[in-house]
Amino acid sequence: MKEIILIKNGELTLKGLNRSNFEDILIKNIRRRLRSLGEFDVRKAQSTIYIEPKADDFDFEEALERVKLIFGIAAFSRACVCEKSMEDILSKSAEYLKDSLSKIKTFKVEAKRSDKQFPLTSPEICREVGGKILETNSHLKVDVHNPDLVVYVEIRDYYAYVRAEQIHGAGGLPVGTAGTASVLISGGIDSPVAAWTMAKRGLRLNAIHFASPPYTSPRAEQKVKTLLSKVARYSGTINLSIVPFTEIQDQIAKNCPEEYFTLIMRRMMMRISERIAKDSGSLALITGESLGQVASQTLPALVTTDYVTTMPVLRPLIGMDKEEIITISRNIDTFETSILPFEDCCTVFTPKHPKTRPTLESCELAEKNLPICELIEKAISETEYTYIE
Ligand code: ATP
Ligand code: MG
Repeated sequence: MKEIILIKNGELTLKGLNRSNFEDILIKNIRRRLRSLGEFDVRKAQSTIYIEPKADDFDFEEALERVKLIFGIAAFSRACVCEKSMEDILSKSAEYLKDSLSKIKTFKVEAKRSDKQFPLTSPEICREVGGKILETNSHLKVDVHNPDLVVYVEIRDYYAYVRAEQIHGAGGLPVGTAGTASVLISGGIDSPVAAWTMAKRGLRLNAIHFASPPYTSPRAEQKVKTLLSKVARYSGTINLSIVPFTEIQDQIAKNCPEEYFTLIMRRMMMRISERIAKDSGSLALITGESLGQVASQTLPALVTTDYVTTMPVLRPLIGMDKEEIITISRNIDTFETSILPFEDCCTVFTPKHPKTRPTLESCELAEKNLPICELIEKAISETEYTYIE
């Protein structure tokens, strides 16, 4: 029996004139994400996107798993393809729905005819399909108000489709419809969640990671790559810049007062990230900061880090509790990796008594002996670029 995936879009329907553009980007994203699974066709007609396998070895189950993670899809379903005759619809639907029907007690049938030439009206189709289901499933009753399952029959231009339950999609907007931003990614819990949250709103992601070998090990860097590959299952390919940060930290340790270490590191990260982000076509930075979570994330501290960049800094977790962040991180399967105990460049240099109410002036004074421009140029020239998918 031939099966396809049908996607009906929720939020996308709100986008008026942009809609077609959004759908085209979504289709491109779908093509890219299913590419390795075998031959298939993706097309749209009447506000529905069809994913149709073209070869027997197309991995349909894996395609469903991947479609579940593509942003811009609120819900989708698998459907069986029937000839446009009641005979074929009745025989295939009984077989196709067998498993779904065995798990429920009540159902109803809804039919839609976009081909008005079809000899039966929608209510007649419902009656016939419903009758057949009742005939072969004695445990079932029809409930038009609150059924356990709605069976949909659609008569389209070339074929009829029969489908059962809708599957929840990842929601959000198609990646790429909102432009590109660069996420500052550490190996922690928060920044992967921040990256995922913004990709969900349609941003394509670049990522920037500051590494401090030998204070941080290659395993810490691998952890960041693993985290990004988990995010990339939702966002698609992520370009990653790995910036050497050791010398900057050594210079901060040598030239600045200890209570400002973290703040000055943050300011250096922001300055360098802005440069790399601009070069890679990003319009904004993303961080995993949450108000008050640690000393460097108090409002006065955020003001001092914001001040060194003219780019907007998106902080999608700013109003979330750690528990809320952890819940998302478990849902997107980054949590177990995030809690692996590899050192982060910031934890290596954490001051004993970090400044929680810095002023801009005091920060500038604290970094007055740091050769800022020189350090930035050197770090950028030694940055390594790779990509994660
Ligand atoms: P996370 O769980 O994301 O590491 P955190 O609560 O540990 O966050 P901090 O270590 O203070 O918080 O970092 C705040 C933000 O700064 C991170 O969410 C991330 O966006 C950025 N950041 C921290 N360390 C790095 C790093 N080594 N490379 C790139 N960005 C970093
Ligand atoms: Mg961290």
